[in-house]
Amino acid sequence: MEIEKYTEPHQRSLEDVLKSSPSVNQGLTSLEAELRLQANGPNVFPTKKPRPLWKIFLGQFASPLIYILLAAGGVALAIGDTRDALFIAIILLINSVIGTTQEKGAQNSALALKRMAETRSMVMRDGRQMEIPSEEIVLGDVVYLESGNKVPADLRLINTHSLEVDESLLTGESLTVVKDASGQFAEHASLGDRKNMAFTGSLVVRGRATGLVTAVGLQSELGRIVNSLNSEESAGTPLLIRMKKLTHKIAIALLVVTALMAVFLFLKGYGYYEVLVFSVALAVSAIPEGLPVALTVALSVASRRMAQRNVIVRKLPAVEALGSCTYIATDKTGTLTVNQMTVRKIVAPDGEQFDIEGSGLDPGSKKFDNVHMESLVRCGVLCNEAKLFFQEGKWTGHGDAVDLAFLVLGEKAGVNPSDSGGLVSDIPFEPEHQFAATLHEGNDHKRILSVKGAVEKLLPMCDSMLVQGHKHRINTDAILNQADELAEAGYRVLALAGHMVSRSESEISKSPTGLVFYGLVGMIDPLRPEAAKAVKQCQQAGIRVAMVTGDHPKTSLAIARELGLAQTMDEVVSGPALKQVESEDQLSKMILEGRVFARVEPQQKLQIVQHLTQKGFFVAVTGDGANDAPALKAANVGVAMGLSGTDVAKETADLIVADDRFSSIVAGVEQGRIVYNNLRKVVYLLISTAAAEILIFVLSFVFNAPMPLTAAQILWLNLVTNGIQDIGLAFEPGEGDELAHRPRKPNESIFDRLMMERVLLSAIVIGGIGYWYFHQLVQSGVGIEAARNNLLLFLVIFENLMLGNCRSEEKSIFKLNPLRNKFLLGGAILAQGIHIVAMYTPGLNILLEVGPVPIGEWARMFAMALAVLVVIEVHKMIKARGIKAQLASS
Ligand code: ADP
Ligand code: MG
Repeated sequence: MEIEKYTEPHQRSLEDVLKSSPSVNQGLTSLEAELRLQANGPNVFPTKKPRPLWKIFLGQFASPLIYILLAAGGVALAIGDTRDALFIAIILLINSVIGTTQEKGAQNSALALKRMAETRSMVMRDGRQMEIPSEEIVLGDVVYLESGNKVPADLRLINTHSLEVDESLLTGESLTVVKDASGQFAEHASLGDRKNMAFTGSLVVRGRATGLVTAVGLQSELGRIVNSLNSEESAGTPLLIRMKKLTHKIAIALLVVTALMAVFLFLKGYGYYEVLVFSVALAVSAIPEGLPVALTVALSVASRRMAQRNVIVRKLPAVEALGSCTYIATDKTGTLTVNQMTVRKIVAPDGEQFDIEGSGLDPGSKKFDNVHMESLVRCGVLCNEAKLFFQEGKWTGHGDAVDLAFLVLGEKAGVNPSDSGGLVSDIPFEPEHQFAATLHEGNDHKRILSVKGAVEKLLPMCDSMLVQGHKHRINTDAILNQADELAEAGYRVLALAGHMVSRSESEISKSPTGLVFYGLVGMIDPLRPEAAKAVKQCQQAGIRVAMVTGDHPKTSLAIARELGLAQTMDEVVSGPALKQVESEDQLSKMILEGRVFARVEPQQKLQIVQHLTQKGFFVAVTGDGANDAPALKAANVGVAMGLSGTDVAKETADLIVADDRFSSIVAGVEQGRIVYNNLRKVVYLLISTAAAEILIFVLSFVFNAPMPLTAAQILWLNLVTNGIQDIGLAFEPGEGDELAHRPRKPNESIFDRLMMERVLLSAIVIGGIGYWYFHQLVQSGVGIEAARNNLLLFLVIFENLMLGNCRSEEKSIFKLNPLRNKFLLGGAILAQGIHIVAMYTPGLNILLEVGPVPIGEWARMFAMALAVLVVIEVHKMIKARGIKAQLASS
């Protein structure tokens, strides 16, 4: 048997490829596809494995503070103080368990979110086009590409229409490459030169194509370069980074204080080792080590909650960024409307109007029968990329909503796309052109050119119009008026035109001329029922909303009116008008005053976004098309549409809105604000309790009292009980009025005046009463150990009550349902419980030098600790009055 030399797919001619691939016409059968999937595995790159549990656990020890503690433990062991060494070990263990469970939880939810953002592809299987997860693509599959897609596998192209792709991921070449199914290339041609192939990971910038899968997963060209696609892990959000810097500063300041105290202690006659252990303990109390974990948990809780509201977080910083956005520039179609188009009006070139009945994809029995409008309907059906089918008793379809509407119209009028000959050439719809065109084989040696799109684009291409079957000279002004009228009534307007060309023509000119105008069509696309409310919520939340659309200005205004977004034409800025501005000032004025941006090209969207961010707005922008990527990148928060969005848009976005709805974005904003407030709550708790502990120590120095707590006790308080409590705050649900406030400034410091006041007040109350209590116990002669035991319990109680204070910055604790956050309640109970266990557990109580406290004393402590609640409640009341007075006077 002769062995044929293997040829690479790019070396082979198109005819050869088509001939030798039986699956080209019908696609693979689903059985064959399943078998291949089983045999070769899914079309994925192995992603970096999630960090194993033991590594997460060990990771908890990687902090300077823990090193110090470990060192102290080592010293203790060396000098034979096993008690302290053992204790430090126990504390570190508990602390790591807490940290590990939190991190593991955050990791799991991040993985779940990633799964939600996976891509899908259009393929041919069993003779039908269908969408499948890109993972399930196998060798030999027929894959369809259109602008905005990410190429899911290596493809030998078998059909291309003005296909341009961006292969920079593979070749480093940033210019787009024109691809063509015809042509053969040398075996060792560089990837960039293999123009008849499309490679995994490249992006389709323009055009359409069909390709045959030649390699998947790691066998693809991209797979050979990268063995695993490491998910980019973000270093943390800007806020987290700022918080870290701040904690560093606090830590350094407090370390200086600690060092000074160490010197004091030393002078007072304590031994080296005691001073060392004590300094370490004090440092532990000073540094809010619970902060990073609590902040991470808060962000991860927020991204989980956003996912429940259909907002999928791709980049963690976007969680908090969304909360501070001051401007949302949103798409119209699909976001504010349902993207379910129905042709309701047809306007003949002479102005005669026809109403079309029905809605949605079901053509129903309502027929439209008018012989003079047949050219218009045929044009809409031919110049079409969608598919409509009757399946399992109902009408379904896929593809562009506008195109689907034309297919439904065709059904109503009895015009079928298959009545005409094959497609010769086409210009697919791209938002920047605002029209689409096709050339079909006709009869009588003619070909049919069909064009549909925006009126302003089409009229210049036409020189005649078809009235009652006869050609007349075109009356442009009359038609523009008809279009305006339709648009004012809220219809999406499309114009249709075309003509017969000779057999010899096989290409469509980029701007066709000499067309016959067939008429206009008015489509409705209902508003999403919840959109108006969501717009209103934004306005109340101090967020400006603007609509950015490719649609007609008057159609857009009609919809904006319904939404309460804009009222008059003055608030509408058109794309062409933006192009004509002469001065920067004028541009600025237009953009700042605009509420509706209509007939906007994707590049202009970028211009608008850039301008707004320059003017200090914190902008969230939505996008779905391939050309929206620059605007999504330039915005502070880029939001891609999950349903209608292209891979390119999704890949550049910070967030994906799974259900495309504007109201989901608003829900995301709310969650963003909640998480920021929760971060503040955690910070407040940790800083004020740390400050209180320091105060107790400072006071005992000043008054020459004995050390109020042992090193072990301080460690316990900070790493165990407090470490459990603060996490609960990260789970706080919203207070319900997040959207009633203006957005915070994006770079606002967490340590604002209110925070300072609260921290100082709380620290003074806890520290002052705590010290006084300890002092008075020592005076009464109960013995220093018993006094410390009581003080420790007292502080645990104090901190639990502080949780109540932290839950809201404005609202009284009595207005907050304690059962609404089971994590907080559970955390408080657990922290208290674990302390009680320590008090009664033989061994542990010796290490910690604690023991049971009589019930009467418990009650007394509790009563005294209530002081911190009272003081903060009063402070909240004073602040509320102040705000009211301010509002009244302004
Ligand atoms: P939107 O912002 O509403 O998504 P598009 O960019 O989709 O706007 O559409 C802009 C204009 O392009 C429409 O007003 C319409 O005139 C035209 N258009 C939209 N879809 C198609 C299509 N499938 N074929 C031809 N023209 C279209
Ligand atoms: Mg659109």
